Amino acid sequence: MHCHSTISDGVLTPTEVAERAHANGVQLWALTDHDELSGLAQASAAANDLGMKFIPGVEISVTWAQHTVHIVGLGVDENNDLLNAGLTDIRSGRTVRAREMADRFEQIGIPDAYEGALPYAANPSLISRTHFARFLIERGYCDNMQMVFDKYLGDGKPVSVPMHWSTLEQAVSWILAAGGQAVVAHPGRYTYTPVQFDAFFSQFKDLGGAAIEVVTGSHTPDEYAIYAKVARQYGFLASCGSDFHSPKEGKLDLGTVPALPSGLTPIWHDWA
Ligand code: AMP
Ligand code: MN
Ligand code: MN
Ligand code: MN
Repeated sequence: MHCHSTISDGVLTPTEVAERAHANGVQLWALTDHDELSGLAQASAAANDLGMKFIPGVEISVTWAQHTVHIVGLGVDENNDLLNAGLTDIRSGRTVRAREMADRFEQIGIPDAYEGALPYAANPSLISRTHFARFLIERGYCDNMQMVFDKYLGDGKPVSVPMHWSTLEQAVSWILAAGGQAVVAHPGRYTYTPVQFDAFFSQFKDLGGAAIEVVTGSHTPDEYAIYAKVARQYGFLASCGSDFHSPKEGKLDLGTVPALPSGLTPIWHDWA
């Protein structure tokens, strides 16, 4: 229910992601590129050829209480005007931010990072921190992704550029307008206080949000249990996903996501 292709910050094309998912035993597959819908037609055709059910998805960047959260939309209509207009707006901010990141890299002795990151971004309108990270690793500045985020790109680090993505209201309303269901991606990654988390989940629910990710490549097994409890407490459906980006990165491959804890209703029950 959550993975990426070259349309955002993954390294495989939508067709290659479909083939890998199918080869790994996936029966129901959603592609959820960041802030982009342009891979969905290819993904849907590839899934169809393979005889695998497909859910068109997206992962929208949101700013809530000065931090970035990601809201996955599942079952969205890729031709919806409101959703497309909102995502176009988000993407335009990425290029400006990438220039600013390159300036900051230059100030700390890493020149030409924009030119270096760009070849990693197969879709130039969707340049992300991941593309900068791959450039830094290739040049030997860091050994792996985690090190790049810990040293340079994570919140509060020297190259972190504060962003105003969309609001939670906007992201959820665009997903609903496009006929989709809204899902909080990897809640375990956010650094909110308990009071903020409660406000966030309550607001998401009030806006019509349907689900939270419980089992994801971004959670530890302890967090599976924590967010299972949250889903039960707020009456959310549960989602899961590898958050696959590359065969060489991340904790979980496509099709290797552990089962949901018991007692939860999966978001995909309508599609399965
Ligand atoms: P952006 O949308 O440009 O802010 O980039 C966010 C992307 O960076 C996420 O979708 C992940 O793919 C990646 N990312 C964020 N934090 C980390 C981290 N700590 N380790 C590895 N990858 C990360
Ligand atoms: Mn990503
Ligand atoms: Mn995410
Ligand atoms: Mn993701």
